[in-house]
Amino acid sequence: MEDYENSVEKAVRLALEKLSFRERETVIRFYCMGQRITEIASYFDLSKNSINHIKSRGIKKLKHLLFPFARDKYGIELNDREICPLCRDKRLDKIILKCAPYGPWKYALRMAKRLKIKDVKAVSTIIYHYKNHISKGNENG
Ligand SMILES: [Zn+2]
Repeated sequence: MEDYENSVEKAVRLALEKLSFRERETVIRFYCMGQRITEIASYFDLSKNSINHIKSRGIKKLKHLLFPFARDKYGIELNDREICPLCRDKRLDKIILKCAPYGPWKYALRMAKRLKIKDVKAVSTIIYHYKNHISKGNENG
């Protein structure tokens, strides 16, 4: 049970580390410390609008970063168009790992097209998926 909780905590912490300082602070202050938007706004000397914007961007990023973990751990499938297309379709992972870490990413992109994986239109999508969704597990393993 403890390991189980630790792995969740670790996943969340790793994801939080990928946010910008402001996004991380805002998310933690709002969701963990229970501060109100006005308090966070005055802490950063920003408008409430900006803080709301930063908060939703942070949450969106967390969702994106934690999606593979949630799926592997809990079998949760999110039906969200914002979810990384390469997480929806794992067929390219082996090819990506062969290309990693320096490429040639264009080869992976060509394969994505050949496999007809939707929404993979640029090398940056592949690199993002590699860096945020698959390299993590391998580095620590
Ligand atoms: Zn991904």
